[in-house]
Amino acid sequence: MAPRKLAAGNWKMNGDLAALEQIDILARDHAAANCDVLICPPALLVHPMAERATGIAVGGQDCHHAASGAHTGDISAEQLRDAGASHVIIGHSERRTDHGETDEMVAAKAVAAHQAGLTTIICVGETEAQRDAGETLDVIASQLAGSVPDCASAKNTVVAYEPIWAIGTGRTPTTDQIAEVHALMRRLMAERFGDGADLSLLYGGSVKPGNAAEIFAIADVDGALVGGASLKASDFGPIVSALD
Ligand code: PEP
Repeated sequence: MAPRKLAAGNWKMNGDLAALEQIDILARDHAAANCDVLICPPALLVHPMAERATGIAVGGQDCHHAASGAHTGDISAEQLRDAGASHVIIGHSERRTDHGETDEMVAAKAVAAHQAGLTTIICVGETEAQRDAGETLDVIASQLAGSVPDCASAKNTVVAYEPIWAIGTGRTPTTDQIAEVHALMRRLMAERFGDGADLSLLYGGSVKPGNAAEIFAIADVDGALVGGASLKASDFGPIVSALD
């Protein structure tokens, strides 16, 4: 089966109740799209967004590896699921940098999310220094090996390649650079989970309406994880249309 196409938006720590009108516009224009459309708002907005997001999936931006307990300020995968989420982003570079999340922690969170019935979007990506040093493919292979748990499958896991130096900077890798990493990810996932595993592979990092079509034309790119350009339906809508 061909990998599912997914346009995923990551609102990060942006948005409020008034911003939910963006979801009404996306639902009106893209609920019947031929690709999956997902918005991951701040945790407080997951439930109200899921209540009104007909035809648009809603996800969390992180979850704890435990189902419940004494973890002040954290949110479990079960709680996300209960609030109406179907997906959760795990191991975003901002979590790895700001909260010291390791590959091992990312894999544990992914297992918890799968047990709760969520689809994970597991993020990997190199720093600019690593790319300049020619280490990109080794870094991605190592992050994939450590962050993607053995229970992963095309049904419960999406992998997002997000070069850290491209996130929120307006800079993107060349199409050849994206193709090289995605080919590696496709091969490594097939080696580990079988030829037909066909996990969806997203590219993320300064995707905009103006470059989306070119990025989606690259082999092994099954969609995008979009930050800044997912906040407004007027930007995210054209990106969804480019994938659709
Ligand atoms: C992201 O945060 O995952 C991201 C890709 O951000 P941006 O699209 O703003 O670069």
